[in-house]
Amino acid sequence: MVGSYTQLLQRRYKGKLDADADEFIGYAVDGTQRMKRLIEDLLVYSRAGRSAPAAKQLRSEDSLREALGNLKAAIEESGAKVTWDALPKVTAAELQLVQLFQNLVGNAIKYRGERVPRIHVAAQSTALEWIFSVADNGIGIEAKYFDRIFVIFQRLHGRGEYEGTGIGLAICKRILQQQGGRIWVESEPGVGSTFYFALPVR
Ligand code: ADP
Repeated sequence: MVGSYTQLLQRRYKGKLDADADEFIGYAVDGTQRMKRLIEDLLVYSRAGRSAPAAKQLRSEDSLREALGNLKAAIEESGAKVTWDALPKVTAAELQLVQLFQNLVGNAIKYRGERVPRIHVAAQSTALEWIFSVADNGIGIEAKYFDRIFVIFQRLHGRGEYEGTGIGLAICKRILQQQGGRIWVESEPGVGSTFYFALPVR
């Protein structure tokens, strides 16, 4: 309601009040959109904490493809090149695996630097785990923030620089905790970041 009516005000009264009014209405519209995004992200976060959805055997490449489909607009707009190695069959909850890839590849695109984003997804197995990696050539992260970024609402940049709610990686962490897995990052500022997540072999 608040969003619809402030947008209606914006459409109907733009240029009819004064420049200040246009600006203030613009802030109000912007605020409602951010509030919507925040509520949606919090809902996903809260659902990710409930009892684990049923895990089944699935081809992780299918989950990656689905995530890339959901990110189509961002990929096209940024010109990102996403590549991947042969990816394994794993036992996981389908939607959660899509969500993991989507958040990590989405961030790899969002936190790009001046270069065209190049993102590579790979997987390797140990006796106990499948370890997936999502590597980018973006802005990178200082080592002192490697833990902090997985905490809800923790962001390293202001909204003016990069849009976001600071919930995406907290969702990933929750999903992995629930699946008996883990997530971490390695990165070098100005060079790029690689996010790793490990799923137990079942
Ligand atoms: P959001 O993107 O909404 O801020 P996230 O929880 O997804 O929230 O990420 C938390 C913070 O981690 C981001 O604000 C950003 O500073 C940093 N970050 C995440 N992914 C990357 C990446 N691929 N490259 C550089 N920084 C990243």
